[in-house]
Amino acid sequence: MTARMRLDPQAIGLGMTSQRVRDRLIERLREGAPNGGGIRDERVLNAIRTVPRHLFVDEALATRAYEDTALPIGFGQTISQPWVVAKMTEALFVDGAQPKKVLEVGTGSGYQAAILAALGLEVHTVERIGELLRTARKRFRTLGLNVRSKHDDGRIGWPENGPFDAIVVTAAAPALVDALTEQLAPGGTLVAPVGGGNAQSLLRLRKDANGVIEQTTLAPVVFVPLLSGLVD
Ligand code: SAH
Repeated sequence: MTARMRLDPQAIGLGMTSQRVRDRLIERLREGAPNGGGIRDERVLNAIRTVPRHLFVDEALATRAYEDTALPIGFGQTISQPWVVAKMTEALFVDGAQPKKVLEVGTGSGYQAAILAALGLEVHTVERIGELLRTARKRFRTLGLNVRSKHDDGRIGWPENGPFDAIVVTAAAPALVDALTEQLAPGGTLVAPVGGGNAQSLLRLRKDANGVIEQTTLAPVVFVPLLSGLVD
């Protein structure tokens, strides 16, 4: 074996998760995905470039962390496809203005919450599977991210901490959840996948100063279902 072929674990790790590999993902996101057009907001692209997605999946999947695909995180759940995370985040920046306080329903790996926190938002996130939440909290701590989280059924939102300037739902329901729309502040934006099975649409709701709601469809998406009840 020559010196050049020596397996340096750190170097291998760097190779698979290196800045070059991450930059390639950013270029992909700029170009677009089968779901829709390219991501334009530089703040969002920069957050995706900065937050180490490989720390949000099992080590065995780290080599695939910078592919534009959803990946399993256990308990039948997935970390969302980067394009979808970017699209949902961008959709909250209406006319370029950044919301202050955001609620996420479905913490999962913690990746979407980490992206929002990296952008400087005050993040509140709710997860129904205790073990996923505990792992996500460790990641927030390791990365020094300030994220408020609770183990609960996110379909009731987080009324004590609301209203929110933005709400991101990262699991699909057959219809929009009224309790969440109610916790949206006037001028706020909610992004959620709605629909059953493989026929979901990513919807964006905007609540104006008078509480009137306007709805647009952003893209076809596939999310795991929004379920009721808690799991330890
Ligand atoms: N935002 C996550 C995506 C995880 S997948 C990420 O970036 O990794 C969706 C998550 O929503 C799963 O972890 C699932 O357990 C959770 N979920 C589903 N129904 C829920 C509910 N009613 N309340 C809270 N979390 C829920």
